Amino acid sequence: MKLQSALNFSHTLLEQIVQPGDVVVDATAGMGHDSLKLAQLVGPRGHVYSFDIQAPAVSATKNRLQEAGYHNATVVQLGHEHLDQVVTTPIKSAIFNLGYLPTGDHQIITQPVTTITALQKCAELLQPTGAIIVVCYYGHPGGVSEKEQVLEWAQQLPQQSFNVLQYQFINQVHQPPFLLAIQKR
Ligand code: SAM
Repeated sequence: MKLQSALNFSHTLLEQIVQPGDVVVDATAGMGHDSLKLAQLVGPRGHVYSFDIQAPAVSATKNRLQEAGYHNATVVQLGHEHLDQVVTTPIKSAIFNLGYLPTGDHQIITQPVTTITALQKCAELLQPTGAIIVVCYYGHPGGVSEKEQVLEWAQQLPQQSFNVLQYQFINQVHQPPFLLAIQKR
């Protein structure tokens, strides 16, 4: 057994949480890797709602899903802080990849206030046993502030309602990403 990176562990957790027929959210679509994973897991009876503020990310995600033959996703160019305008049913899971799009403009980063607004909205939509997965990259300008505010938000969630896990390599250089799993009890 090899310990997984935060990114690989996020997909391992999604495989455990998400079932065929579920409704799920990709809050930071980017190149669409998480949206594709989610589309595979929910299958034709389920649905993926994917959000990104950048048009190239929306196009890349739509293309990736289309090329793989998935038609069970709605990909919108909209900030995830407004996700409740689109998602109105309970969700089984949501995934956030915080930071910037590696293939895009590194100045366009997720921001603490909008990230936390979106996390709060997902927490309200989450079904019991469902979980929000956050992969937090914070090695860029602004990243540490977002990391601290997201951790503060997650730590104040009442333990009667949520279990919150942090997964992180603590002996690596260069600020490797860490993962939060926020499960509704
Ligand atoms: N999960 C993606 C993938 O599989 O390629 C990578 C996501 S990348 C680390 C972060 C993404 O968040 C960027 O594409 C960026 O445009 C997006 N983003 C930044 N602020 C956002 C917001 N308020 N709402 C939705 N997406 C946002």
